This record gives sequence, structure tokens and C-alpha cells, in this order.
Amino acid sequence: PARTRVAPSPTGDPHVGTAFMALFDKAWAEKTGGAFVLRIEDTDQARLVAGSEQQIYDSLEWLGLQPDEGPHVGGDHGPYRQSERLDTYRPYVEQLIADGHAYYCWCTAERLKEMRDAQAASKQADTGYDRLCLGKTREERAQLPGFSDAPVVRMLIPDDVPLTFNDIIRGEVKAPRPDDQVILKTDGFPTYHLAVVVDDHLMGINTVVRGEEWISSTPKHVLLYQWLGWEPPAFAHMPLLRNTDKSKISKRKNPAARLLWFREQGYLPEAVRNFLQLLGYAGDDEQEVKSFEQFVAEFDWAKVNTVGPIFDLKKLDWLNGHYIRTLSVDELTDRIARYARESGQWEPTMDVEILRKAVPIIQERLVLLKDALPQLDYLFAERVEVADDARASLADNAAEVLDAAIEVAQEVPFEADAIQAGLRERIVDAMGIKPKFAFAPVRVALSGRKVSPPLFESMEILGREASVARLRALR
Ligand code: ATP
Ligand code: GLU
Repeated sequence: PARTRVAPSPTGDPHVGTAFMALFDKAWAEKTGGAFVLRIEDTDQARLVAGSEQQIYDSLEWLGLQPDEGPHVGGDHGPYRQSERLDTYRPYVEQLIADGHAYYCWCTAERLKEMRDAQAASKQADTGYDRLCLGKTREERAQLPGFSDAPVVRMLIPDDVPLTFNDIIRGEVKAPRPDDQVILKTDGFPTYHLAVVVDDHLMGINTVVRGEEWISSTPKHVLLYQWLGWEPPAFAHMPLLRNTDKSKISKRKNPAARLLWFREQGYLPEAVRNFLQLLGYAGDDEQEVKSFEQFVAEFDWAKVNTVGPIFDLKKLDWLNGHYIRTLSVDELTDRIARYARESGQWEPTMDVEILRKAVPIIQERLVLLKDALPQLDYLFAERVEVADDARASLADNAAEVLDAAIEVAQEVPFEADAIQAGLRERIVDAMGIKPKFAFAPVRVALSGRKVSPPLFESMEILGREASVARLRALR
């Protein structure tokens, strides 16, 4: 059974990449009867953002990607927050120093900068840390310039560090030679590299799924596993999601890199999940709509994409429309109402029962939950506000048409088909007005707009009394 994990840093609102990784983590854990773990990597204290952790829990839950273990759900391998594990890392650092795999470095930030500048000037770029501190005692080092009282601990990367490793998606992968990586910071916190290895090992993680930007770190991690006498996990480096111009999507440039954005826009979680699945997984068939269960059933690492998938929101819109059409009227009503309440779109005049009646008339063409209520506002209003362009569009015979419509509305059984038949007979047939012009004033009177959801159904929902009042008001 696989134990997988997603390990986001709570440094802002969650990245869509976190959900992308979590989807594959969860699929593999389910496929093998294992477990999917959420670990919070909060060792970079300067970048922490309050509330971010909760947003990570909420967005994974929203997408149906709940972890089996994590800070908020518990589990046997906790604590699952790195800031609560600081005592765990120390002994491993001591061991690595004692074994000669790591060393203290007292160089100040200024000295490191001078060193890098000098390297750049002599075109010796990428030679990394010059090991000034290696082999020196504190006292010896203190005699030299650029000494800081609070040391860091660095890995001593050997000359023969293995630079290739096997990736379960990509096969053999080659990474550049690493620098003497800092593993313990001056504040006593481990860096990501040490913490990720120690935690993945202690939490029994045997498959690491993460973004391809971590490929260059993997040789360091493999060394740490080796030095500590541990079996390394299998690595799966996922492609990074890309904009249509092929650049990597980032929160600074693309709002859709924020996981919360999808919820704010009124996408359904099942559509977002399906979309992420399609982005990462080619599969054997052309089938684009696929449940998570189906995805798990056919899941195979060999079919995961390695080329950065293009984040095409048109595809997501299409999927969203599809999933909206598969919902029952009651379910879609609930989703729209919940969305509206969460987003502040819900007004006191709105009524769930009216919404339920209106859902069938918009369901077919609705793409985003956020567009539902603005289309239906006229159904909730006490009176319609007639838009200027709608009023200006009324033809000279509008008054006659409205008079006829008022008569029809008072006589016919008040349901859509009968209303339509009545209006047709009286206005199109008897008065000889083309349908296009015949119903336009009626639509303006009922909705206040030139374009609205289906007219006769809208009248049925509004009821006879309100419909007649609106027709009269425009008269
Ligand atoms: P930005 O996207 O602006 O860089 P950030 O600094 O919050 O925002 P990172 O810290 O770089 O983002 O990444 C957060 C997580 O999201 C990391 O786990 C990273 O692997 C993943 N990630 C970042 N960019 C992408 C991407 N384009 N596709 C998939 N995953 C990504
Ligand atoms: N904390 C890292 C991140 O935010 C985790 C990377 C990994 O999965 O190893 O991406």
C-alpha cells in the first residue's frame, strides 16, 4: 500500500498546484489501499500567513480530496505540522555532523554575497559555497572576517554525489550538482530539505508526488536518506501547469493559480477535479468526463503527462456546464443558493422556492454558479426596473401588444404552454405581428430587459397577478 502526502506551506491562499498533487496522491493511495497524508510545512516562519492553513483544509475538502491523516484529522504519525516537530530534527543534524556529512558554517550573509559576487566576476558561476568554514572550529573561524555568532549547518556534498535517480513517471532523470545545502538555519529551524526527508521517513511515506521544480533537490534528499541509513521513497515529479503562452502559472500572474478562485467563480468542485485529472493524465481513451472512482480504477503512473499541461479554462467551463446539467433541480438549487450566500450575492428579497422553479429554465445553458442569480433577479424583485436600452427598443405598437397581452394573461390557464399559445394566437395570428416583435414588449415588461431567460416559463413562475401588474406598469 502506498503512503503519499501533500506538503504545502501555509504562505498565502492555496495554490492550484497543491490540489493537483493531492489528486494524484489520493488516487494512488486509494488504488493501493494505502493512505494520503497532509503535512503542513511551516518552517519558513517569516512567510506564514494567518488563515492559510485553514484554507488548505477547506479547499481540499471542497474538492473531495480529504487526507486520511493530517493536523486537522489526526493519525498515528503526527504531529503533522513541522513547527511542532522541531525537537525531532535536531538529533539527525547532530548525527550528520558527527558522521562528517554536515558541518557548521558561520559565514555572515554579507560574506556570502561577497563570495558570490567574486565568483560571478571571475565567471566561476555555480561553484557554490566555498567551504571557508569546513574543518574549522568556531574559534578558528572567528579569527576570519565575515563571522556570525549564530551558525547554520550545511551538507557536505561529496564529489561523487549521484546525480541521477529513477522517477516513476519520467524514468531516469538527471539533476545538476548540488551546492553544500543549508539544512539547519540560524534560528534552529530545519530547512525544507532536511525536514522533508526526516518527515517523509518518519511518516512512512513511500511515494513522493511533487512538482517538477523539485527535481534539482532530489539528489540532496537521496543523499540524506543514504546518510541516515533509510530507504528512499519512490519519486513522481509532476509537470507544472502552464498558461496558454507556456509560462508556468503563478499566483502573481494568473488568478486561476489560486485554488479559492474556482470556488469564487462558481465552478463545481467535481468539474475542477475532473479538469485537474485531464491536465495530468492522458489515459487510454478520449473520454474527458470521468469520475474520480473511474480515474482511480484505471490509474497508471506510466500514463501521467510529463509535458506541462496547458491550463485551458475553456475546457473547464465546458466541464462545468456538463456537471451542472447532470445535477437534479434540487441539487442545483442548493448549490446556487449556497454559492450566493457564501459570495454575498444573496439578497433578502430572494427566495429559494422561486429559485427552484427557475432552475429548469437556466440549467441547460448555465456555465458558472455566479451567473445564475443575476440572470434571475427580475423574478425576485417587487417591481421591475426597465433598462434604458430595453425601453428604447420598444416599437410604436408596443402599447397595443401590451393591451392584448394583458387580456391574454387574465384569461388563459396560467402555465407556460397555455400562455405562449394564447399570446401567439392573439398577437401573432390575430394582429399579424411577427413573433420577434410580438413578444419583445412582453419580455421588457416582465424582465425589464431585452434579453432574458425563457419568457413564458418566467411568467408562470411570477404568477398571473404579478405578470399582469408588470404588463400594466409598462403600458
Ligand atoms: P507563485 O505561484 O506566485 O509562485 P507561491 O509562491 O505561493 O506562488 P510556490 O510556493 O512556488 O507558489 O508553490 C506552491 C506550491 O504549488 C508548490 O508545491 C509548487 O510545487 C506548486 N506549484 C507552483 N507552481 C505550480 C504550477 N505551475 N503547476 C503546478 N504546481 C505548481
Ligand atoms: N513544502 C513544499 C512545497 O510547498 C513541498 C515540496 C515537496 O512535496 O517535497 O511545495
